[in-house]
Amino acid sequence: MPPSLETCPGCGIALPVETGPTHPYMRGSAACWRGYGALLAAQYQDPRRMRFHQIVVDAYAAQHPDGDDPRAIRSVAIHLMTLALFLERDVDPAEGTRLHRRMVERPVFRRLRRPDAGRPRTLSFVHVPLDGDPAVARDRAYEWGRSVWAAWGPEQDVVRGWLETSGMA
Ligand SMILES: [Zn+2]
Repeated sequence: MPPSLETCPGCGIALPVETGPTHPYMRGSAACWRGYGALLAAQYQDPRRMRFHQIVVDAYAAQHPDGDDPRAIRSVAIHLMTLALFLERDVDPAEGTRLHRRMVERPVFRRLRRPDAGRPRTLSFVHVPLDGDPAVARDRAYEWGRSVWAAWGPEQDVVRGWLETSGMA
């Protein structure tokens, strides 16, 4: 019998049901969280992959919001803010940590409403290969990031506004 599948409430990926840990404030299935962990491990093992690592982290976080938890609200906001800078302003993902520090110092954000109704199907972490040419993994990470950014549709202007308010755009 094939294993029963569970759809991740964050990214929508269907994976065999697992029990296991999940993130405290990124809502997703246990299988999604474990699979993402494997991708992070692949990232940390290769300095060439670490150059675009922040795109991976931003795409995943922005895909797994968790309601009114203040940590989740902050997480989704700052990860979408850097994602916008990387995708629309060609900012180097290596700047991510420094940018997040500045964003948290002067918070301007609020909870965003993800437009779930009619949301275009987005890619998920499995789009980024765990091995092979790091340039391919980089291209896939950017594709994933673009699909996540696109899924936030009407809230994109809010995020761009926050970047202006915080002096980053
Ligand atoms: Zn997921």
